[in-house]
Amino acid sequence: MRPPAERFRGVRFSLAAPIGDKMVHIPLKLFNTMVRKKQSLKTIEDKLIKLYTCGPTVYDYAHIGNLRAFVFYDILKRALLYNDFKVFHVMNITDVGHLVSDADMGEDKMEKGAEREKKTVWEIAEFYTKAFMEDTEKLSIISADIVCKATDHIKEQIELIEKLEEKGFTYIIEDGVYFDTSKLKDYGKLAGVKSKEGLIPGARVEVAEGKKNPTDFALWKFSPKDKKRQMEWPSKWGVGFPGWHIECSAMAMKYLGEHFDIHCGGVDHIPIHHTNEIAQSEAATGKPFANYWLHCEFLQVDGQKMSKSLGNFYTLRGLLEKGFSQRAIRYFLLSAHYRTQQNLTMEGLKKAEETLSGLTDFLDRITGLEVKGEYNKKLGKTTKKAKEGFLKALNDDLNIPSVLSVIFNIVKETNKAIEQNKIGKKNVEEVLKTMKDFDRVLGVLEHEKTEVPQWVRTLVEERESARKGKNFAEADNIRKKILEAGWIVEDTPRGPRLRKD
Ligand code: AMP
Ligand code: ZN
Repeated sequence: MRPPAERFRGVRFSLAAPIGDKMVHIPLKLFNTMVRKKQSLKTIEDKLIKLYTCGPTVYDYAHIGNLRAFVFYDILKRALLYNDFKVFHVMNITDVGHLVSDADMGEDKMEKGAEREKKTVWEIAEFYTKAFMEDTEKLSIISADIVCKATDHIKEQIELIEKLEEKGFTYIIEDGVYFDTSKLKDYGKLAGVKSKEGLIPGARVEVAEGKKNPTDFALWKFSPKDKKRQMEWPSKWGVGFPGWHIECSAMAMKYLGEHFDIHCGGVDHIPIHHTNEIAQSEAATGKPFANYWLHCEFLQVDGQKMSKSLGNFYTLRGLLEKGFSQRAIRYFLLSAHYRTQQNLTMEGLKKAEETLSGLTDFLDRITGLEVKGEYNKKLGKTTKKAKEGFLKALNDDLNIPSVLSVIFNIVKETNKAIEQNKIGKKNVEEVLKTMKDFDRVLGVLEHEKTEVPQWVRTLVEERESARKGKNFAEADNIRKKILEAGWIVEDTPRGPRLRKD
């Protein structure tokens, strides 16, 4: 069967919006970890990008550091769409096989989660997959075209291991079927690690007994003899479960084909997970796996990586309870370049909140502006130049900090023109259109609707129709109900706007 991306060829997958008018052609350049430099993006098929992003391990709530990675994938995807590529995006859900140490040792993260909550592993997987999807929706992350679970693809993973076995890349030891990394000439090319030499940087010094090379990794782990696992499957090698890396290779190949365009993850995936995905995929097919490998740096707290094991993590839910808005959190996460470490502070989040509120006020202000002036050519030129500046910054390896400075410049110049009374109706239209266009990538300006519970939104609509029908007493009653729900409704030229009480 052909992979779905081919069957859907020619269809715009994710965003239906047309691409804004571009004045100059600026190629999209992305930093490819494989060659350690920025490269102009070239697709395998004309204008179609097949994208694979490593998804969450669903044993607990995602922390905001994990979510930084998903906001980065979203910015990448929106940038691709903005550049008029079609995108076919696949993301996995790891619901089995990810052990607490990346080097195949320790407990299964999923079983650990189940023990903690006295639930079955299947319940844990279902609950946290749903929680993850809710979190990403709150952050305005466009969902992947295919979201696939490891446990739904055991057959594909076993078939891939069989293929590797036929080609002589595997061996069996006490605890499972392993991949022999010394059989591949270029093992470790992504991270610059050699199979025979030393350990992978960052990996723990625990090595399964019988492994031929320190970098060899499990393809299939056998269930322990003395304990029944909740998730286990029969295979020709024995009852067990897949190693963590094999799911991504098997599912990427199923949905995107053996060779596709872009593969993404966090920087922690470079030395182990992605290195091993490349090894097993290229060993099986003899083809390069993905052309571009993009990695997002860590979110830190007080100078340390945010992680569950260090206990220094915040969840999206936790930050929302502290009163930060969804879009301010998204804005904060996207405001640092994805290849730099970002430090999470409450001050930083407050500042993001203020900046966004300033931008929304600006949009409200100019929407309701009564303008009688002539068209201001200089401002017109600034607006046009801003579009070019935006694209230049975006296409320079997704330089969002530069993108934001382009936006603030438009705001500054427009405010100046307003103060000097030198602004025409067409200027206002152009500025609004440009900001809307930029927001197709940023996804923060028109984001308010998703923050408010549906029933509060319904109240706002009811109040609007009461007001329009001049039923002011009724409208006022509804306003009070909205206030009781914790929201203040303000009437602006762009319609009613809600802010947290
Ligand atoms: P996991 O659910 O542990 O498989 O992680 C999901 C994604 O989050 C992976 O791509 C990780 O690389 C990424 N990640 C984990 N911790 C952080 C962090 N502190 N900052 C940014 N990304 C992270
Ligand atoms: Zn993966």
